Amino acid sequence: MSEGLDEKLEPIYREVLHRNPGETEFHQSVHGVLESLGPVLVKYPEFAELKIIQRICEPERQIIFRVPWQDDKGELQINRGFRVQFNSALGPYKGGMRFHPSVYLGIIKFLGFSQVFKNALTGLPIGGGKGGSDFDPRGRSDAEIMRFCQSMMTEMYRHIGEYTDVPAGDIGVGQREIGYLFGQYKRLTNRFESGVFTGKGLDWGGSCVRTEATGYGVVFFTEAMLDARKESLDGKRVVVSGAGNVAIHAIQKAQLLGARVIACSDSRGVILDEGGLDLDLIRQIKVRERGPISAYAERRKGAQYNEDGCIWEIPCDIALPCATQNELTAKDAKTLIENGCVAVAEGANMPVTPEGIQAFREAGIAFGPGKAANAGGVATSALEMQQNASRDSWSFEYTEGRLQEIMCNIHRTCFETAEEYGAPGNYTTGANIAGFVKVARAMEAMGHI
Ligand code: NDP
Repeated sequence: MSEGLDEKLEPIYREVLHRNPGETEFHQSVHGVLESLGPVLVKYPEFAELKIIQRICEPERQIIFRVPWQDDKGELQINRGFRVQFNSALGPYKGGMRFHPSVYLGIIKFLGFSQVFKNALTGLPIGGGKGGSDFDPRGRSDAEIMRFCQSMMTEMYRHIGEYTDVPAGDIGVGQREIGYLFGQYKRLTNRFESGVFTGKGLDWGGSCVRTEATGYGVVFFTEAMLDARKESLDGKRVVVSGAGNVAIHAIQKAQLLGARVIACSDSRGVILDEGGLDLDLIRQIKVRERGPISAYAERRKGAQYNEDGCIWEIPCDIALPCATQNELTAKDAKTLIENGCVAVAEGANMPVTPEGIQAFREAGIAFGPGKAANAGGVATSALEMQQNASRDSWSFEYTEGRLQEIMCNIHRTCFETAEEYGAPGNYTTGANIAGFVKVARAMEAMGHI
């Protein structure tokens, strides 16, 4: 996968492969950034001398630990916990926790690495990190989830803090899990340290719009990309993969802005509703009942459910992958292009494969990479930290206004950086370079950290 790299970057990438064997998702995300950095080394040769890229590819600290917990039958279960503190040049480590059976070190490192640049792009003072566990929350009772979260925090609490490392949610970690994790942190430290976690409930230090932020932000970014092409969301056919936190709020905001969202999915299948998705029904099934999306077609006239179906085969103007990594391949990209899709924005982290991105680029489709398009979640987390630090609580309208402004700024930064470096319209290049240069400059200023 080393084609396309500048000759100075090629050996750095080979070293990353050598030092991190078997971590394919991490390799993919490093390659995705290095691909853009050739012209940066021409403009800033000192970054090469100072070995900034080699340092950025090596996490500052990696913590791996055992998480023992007892299930409802009294049987002992053992999972593995991770927290990778990737880079703190711009602020405390910041990034979510993922609970999913596919989690291993390579997934957490890929997420932590991208988080560093994403957080830099928000313009807010946050470094990058990520954590999680191979724990599978599916089918577990509330009591089991609580015992697992308490055991996880019993190790993790000594590594985090409002000025050190501030976790949040991700796949499998929503407000329920954050409540259990935060509660255990409070018990162990005897401190009500609001700023140690974001994504908290509104009654105990959370911020308005944090739950909605990633999905809303993806749609604001998409709107900005369309606006740059003198188009709008109004009347567009939209498909959104996933039916979790990011997907639900992307659907909501797209509908509010006049789009017709006709399909979404979960890990088991796809639903198509030409009449436009009924979001209340999706919430009822996926959030309240925690059930499969197939139930939607059973309860809604005219809707179809396709188990093992591919959502990208549904003709649309705009595609928003909001489920998981590598869910949209080159084949899917070609199908979308043939069906007339004009814009794609990544709500999930790295959902489009490198070959898929290349196909979109070659077809001239507006493509918003996750680092930029889904940065609204972490940006609003940073706004939650601001509110906690000042013991304040902002209104929904004000916070949403801040989020929208941040997303427009990120869009502008990516757009202008891409033009400056000779890649007009390439938001991936723009995002990688703008995020990298900001972190690199801070590292340069701080000496050999
Ligand atoms: P959730 O756990 O709330 O939802 C994930 C959704 O994706 C679920 O509907 C799940 O289905 C579905 N899914 C998982 N794996 C697959 C698969 N292999 N194929 C199809 N569907 C799948 O997670 P989030 O919405 O929080 O996160 C989604 C993505 O967005 C992740 O990549 C995450 O890293 C990224 N992200 C999240 C942020 C946030 O603020 N939450 C911030 C920035 C990025 P099922 O219900 O069946 O499990």
